[in-house]
Amino acid sequence: MFDKLALIGIGLIGSSIARAARLNGLARTIAIATRQQATLEEARALGLGDHYTRSNAEAVRDADLVILCVPVGAYAAVMADIAPALKPGAILSDVGSVKGQVVKVVEPFVPAGVHFIPGHPIAGTEHSGPAAGFPELFVGRWCILTPRRDTDPVALDRLTSFWGAMGSNVERMDPAHHDLVLAITSHVPHLIAYNIVGTVADLETHTRSEVIKFSASGFRDFTRIAASDPVMWRDVFLTNRDAVLEMLGRFLEDLSQLQRAVRVGDGPAMEALFTRTRAIRRSIITAGQETAAADFGRPHGGSEAATPTAPDVPRIGIREHGGGEDA
Ligand code: NAP
Repeated sequence: MFDKLALIGIGLIGSSIARAARLNGLARTIAIATRQQATLEEARALGLGDHYTRSNAEAVRDADLVILCVPVGAYAAVMADIAPALKPGAILSDVGSVKGQVVKVVEPFVPAGVHFIPGHPIAGTEHSGPAAGFPELFVGRWCILTPRRDTDPVALDRLTSFWGAMGSNVERMDPAHHDLVLAITSHVPHLIAYNIVGTVADLETHTRSEVIKFSASGFRDFTRIAASDPVMWRDVFLTNRDAVLEMLGRFLEDLSQLQRAVRVGDGPAMEALFTRTRAIRRSIITAGQETAAADFGRPHGGSEAATPTAPDVPRIGIREHGGGEDA
């Protein structure tokens, strides 16, 4: 499909693209660039590409498809590196979790004749680095592309086919709409998880050990999300501030109502809400974005009490069910 694919960044997402592109024969050669020598050596040892370099400009030279797979906060520096080396006619895309700010930062750097089409695979896990990726990550998951009205249709079709060949369903969206939708489906849930786990971290030691010991009662599932990469998520909240604040405002209003229902003992109100939320869970399963397996499909060798501590538990379920960021 492409002669040369260049991946700038080779963590969870970059390495999953490398693996899926290789598996599905989507690029004749794959060039990989990353910031640190140790990450580059890890990618090389895993055999993720054909060319390895710490120079972003060298990686993109002659590439037909370039995908930025670094935290959004690093985009400006990366674009300053690669803009002069981009081949005319090349497609430039990304996987960043925020789109409005990406467009704002990247567009001024894009040379004439290069087709910039922002993207965001709604797939991930809380793990990072080249070893965390796997080729099935995008199978059955959505990938959102946010082209402009004047984006070259041939380039758009080629990028759509690329994601389709990796197993994704592709949807096109306006960047601002993407940011609003993702604020409520992904960014605010992560903020809530970071907050509740942070609250526990601040509890005095005795209570905290009991919280960890009895974590299977609900807290554990928040810890999986709250284990997500701190730099990536810092950048999400720095770059999608308005949409996150808008959705957080609505969330807090609803939480106040729920708080009131608890305080006054309004059983019917609580039951009505919990019935609606259960139906949402079922519709996500019907849509194929989750399985109905009990406890997120985690295997249970013994009793719940025998389950190991939280960080070890989710890994299995996530690989099987594609949970994690944005999911
Ligand atoms: P990751 O596993 O932590 O890998 C990050 C990659 O970016 C590494 O190659 C790292 O290089 C490089 N990098 C980190 N900071 C950098 C900086 N300041 N300058 C240049 N390079 C830097 O991250 P990831 O989960 O693949 O996330 C990458 C992108 O995918 C992010 O924009 C994120 O928003 C998006 N995304 C993530 C998920 C998810 O679930 N994780 C899902 C959808 C989209 P070194 O190791 O060499 O430093």
